[in-house]
Amino acid sequence: MKREDNLTMGSISRRDFLKRSMGAGLAGGVILTGMDKVALASTGEPVGTFIDLTKCDGCPGKDTPACVAACRTTNQHKFPEPAADDIANYWPQKKHEDWTDKKGLTSRLTPYNWTFVQKVEVEHEGTAHEVSVPRRCMHCDNPPCVKVCPFSAQEKRPEGPVVIDDELCFGGAKCRDVCPWGIPARQAGVGLYLKLAPQLAGGGVMYKCDLCYDRLEQGKLPACIEACPNAAMQIGGQAQMLEAARARAAEIGGYVYGEKENGGTSTFYVSPVPFEKVHKALMEQKQGQENPQAPSFPGMPVNAENFLESANGLAISLLVAPVAGIVGAGAAAYRTMKGQGEDGAPPASGGDPERVPEREGNDE
Ligand code: SF4
Ligand code: SF4
Repeated sequence: MKREDNLTMGSISRRDFLKRSMGAGLAGGVILTGMDKVALASTGEPVGTFIDLTKCDGCPGKDTPACVAACRTTNQHKFPEPAADDIANYWPQKKHEDWTDKKGLTSRLTPYNWTFVQKVEVEHEGTAHEVSVPRRCMHCDNPPCVKVCPFSAQEKRPEGPVVIDDELCFGGAKCRDVCPWGIPARQAGVGLYLKLAPQLAGGGVMYKCDLCYDRLEQGKLPACIEACPNAAMQIGGQAQMLEAARARAAEIGGYVYGEKENGGTSTFYVSPVPFEKVHKALMEQKQGQENPQAPSFPGMPVNAENFLESANGLAISLLVAPVAGIVGAGAAAYRTMKGQGEDGAPPASGGDPERVPEREGNDE
């Protein structure tokens, strides 16, 4: 995705996008699932999604849930392709994150798997509930991942999705550290750092769900929503999705997740059991894993705070802003040169201020 796409969204304007999307029933005012179409009043607001956990059954009998399989197939052209077999470590560390030999992994988030389904059993009011939770980026309203990126490689698009520009990302993974769910996943051996300062800067590129932004541009549904055999996911105007989630929660005496978390998101889950219990069960499940400290197996912390609202977050975002300007200008210059066919030495970047020393090696 290109920076100027913020204004023009590739070859079509935002106005065209909304027009096309409205025509296809994707933007504000229309709720769509993979199975049915329900026309509501038009608002033209950013899109949101509603995931009804009473309808998601985790696709029993399938090796890979339909949404996960569809996401992997649809987005494979965006997945990383490291050129080298022997990817260098992150200086000065002695490790790097390489998922190329685990491309088939569907039980967690990776650079090659942008959504997965967590399954937990939760007791509530004397009844045992099996809860299947499709997980991916929540596409937050005020995403800290965007604000702490010194390269301005992440962007909250006006249409709702939070998108990483894989041509600008240095893979420092700060975005993952400040995400309450640790969503972005890193692949080393790809990205701009290899061209700018492979020995001094960067760790690869971060990857995550982009809400199938390219499909939205074409007036199509996100692949996972289209693929769901139970119509457990809907997309429509953000406010309408929240309204739909609240209505469903009221109907079943259930609970909404995603409205307040991280300061607000555009993804709303509804569950018949409290999310405190879902989170606890997820954390217990995580403790049983080989590396319980690894990210990319998110919990569902209720009222998760937005990092930017902390004193640290504010200070870091203020510190990052000028660095982002300088490095962003260098990266933009590089891209201009590349566009002119001068794939030579780019402006010096001066290291990777985004580096996160405490995160070591392959986060499995
Ligand atoms: S869920 Fe995490 S990665 Fe996605 S927008 Fe929110 S903070 Fe960023
Ligand atoms: S919206 Fe698209 S990219 Fe995101 S999880 Fe669904 S299929 Fe994958």
